[in-house]
Amino acid sequence: MNRAEPIAADVRTQLMALRAEVGGHRDREPHDRYSRIAIGQAIEGGLEGNAAIGALIVDPDGEVILSERNRMFVPRFRSDFHAEMVLLTRYENEHGNEADLRGHTLVSSLEPCEMCTIRIINSGVTNTLFVASDLGKGGMTGPNTLAAHWARLAEPQTFATADCSPRLAEIALEVFQATIGGVVKKMMARRLPG
Ligand SMILES: [Zn+2]
Repeated sequence: MNRAEPIAADVRTQLMALRAEVGGHRDREPHDRYSRIAIGQAIEGGLEGNAAIGALIVDPDGEVILSERNRMFVPRFRSDFHAEMVLLTRYENEHGNEADLRGHTLVSSLEPCEMCTIRIINSGVTNTLFVASDLGKGGMTGPNTLAAHWARLAEPQTFATADCSPRLAEIALEVFQATIGGVVKKMMARRLPG
């Protein structure tokens, strides 16, 4: 990999091809538009050298009010900057005490991890949709059990896969898988040699 390039050339080529495919996608299912926006953000994140995951907030009228992406390595290292965390941090910074996500939907290109699942519960956002499941290992479909207080807080909230075209769900996972190897490599480089 060229030092000036944030990602390997083959990964870039793959992400560009998937971006073109999503650009040509004709929406058929109720959540296709939101899924495309999440994937679009994911791909931008991947091209920047981060994990390719995107997320957005939809208001009760169905309008997308904010979209963000994973920013863990670029522009600087932030161990908490998963897409959902960046999104909710930005929303809460912008709204302060007026922050109120009742009736809103958070859409993530990939099933939120454990950290983001707790953050989503804390945010109070009513609905969460994910375009691709993290292969049964995410914060929602994984084997984890929430502590009683988290479970109680999550009761009025819904968590589900997005009702999108199957190909979009595949692409959401493909863009993540294309980038996660490089990200794990960068994370391993921050650890003591084993
Ligand atoms: Zn996460």
